[in-house]
Amino acid sequence: MFKALIVDKDEAGTTSASVQDISTDRLPEGNVTVAVEYSSVNYKDGLCLGSGGGLVRNYPHVPGIDYAGTVEASEDPRYAVGDKVVLTGWRVGEVHWGGYAQKARVNGDWLVPLPEGLSTRQSMAVGTAGFTAMLAIMALEDHGLTPQKGEVLVTGAAGGVGSVATAILAHLGYQVAAVTGRPETEGYLRELGATRIVAREDIAETVKRPLEAETWAGCVDAVGGAMLARVLGQMKYGASVAAVGLAGGAALPATVVPFLLRGVNLLGIDSVMQPYENRVRAWQRIATDLPMDKLEAMVQPATLTDLPKLGGDILKGQVKGRVVVDVNA
Ligand code: NDP
Repeated sequence: MFKALIVDKDEAGTTSASVQDISTDRLPEGNVTVAVEYSSVNYKDGLCLGSGGGLVRNYPHVPGIDYAGTVEASEDPRYAVGDKVVLTGWRVGEVHWGGYAQKARVNGDWLVPLPEGLSTRQSMAVGTAGFTAMLAIMALEDHGLTPQKGEVLVTGAAGGVGSVATAILAHLGYQVAAVTGRPETEGYLRELGATRIVAREDIAETVKRPLEAETWAGCVDAVGGAMLARVLGQMKYGASVAAVGLAGGAALPATVVPFLLRGVNLLGIDSVMQPYENRVRAWQRIATDLPMDKLEAMVQPATLTDLPKLGGDILKGQVKGRVVVDVNA
């Protein structure tokens, strides 16, 4: 038996979540069984802890889109009992049972070895949000971003993706302008390395002019919607925006003018289906480019029983930094 946070749906379509003791034979199919140590709370987890947001196919369901732990049984020659592993993506926690449990079973193709220099807890302090922030920064670098080019904008900065992006960019020597709707997080963001704070309302409004002053050399955007549209018109000539999220909306009320007159690039970032080599590269970069004291400053610890409330909080944009779930606490 092991503990798991189970979300169930009744006939009226109402979901409810509770921690239950379940037996190992209920684990889904897969060739690697992991004794989970830590998971985390991401925006998608908020959806899967509640109504499912169209992501969850079957109930009862165990959410948790990422986890880290120790291999307990393996039929995959790449993983032996005792190996430390990390999982993000592949629709685990949505279509497949996820990390809000003391045990998980998956396809070995979806795992990566725990990166050297990180503990299982630190890897989940990073989690899907931080891993995706790293992918976004790598994409911006691949498109020519260097610290000499100017300020980099991070939207949704006090959230998970934004916090990790801010800390990594600052560590790499970038000037970071952090957009937040929570003025009380200014001290936190400056501690992570932000050099300028931009109030959400100053950049969220739509404007008629498709182009504004060339301001940002790059952008990691966790917000989407009207803010992303506005940011496109503020990018420097030839600069790129890495579109990561939709915390502010999925619509993009923009014009093509920034693409045509300023050669601006809009780079899509997907963490779910990233090829293995890129995952390993991103995790290695995280281990070297994210200062661990800054990562610790982002962490809010949690247990399985805290999750239903935290799921609601993250959907309302009320979680600061990263929530790390100790599934054995
Ligand atoms: P968080 O909730 O931790 O962060 C989102 C932040 O966005 C909030 O903290 C808040 O920051 C800001 N925000 C929230 N609502 C609004 C709003 N209405 N308008 C403007 N800003 C808002 O979530 P995550 O960091 O976990 O995820 C961020 C986004 O990235 C989500 O949309 C998520 O789905 C997406 N994502 C995508 C991935 C991919 O593979 N592409 C992987 C991981 C995440 P502040 O208070 O500072 O303004």
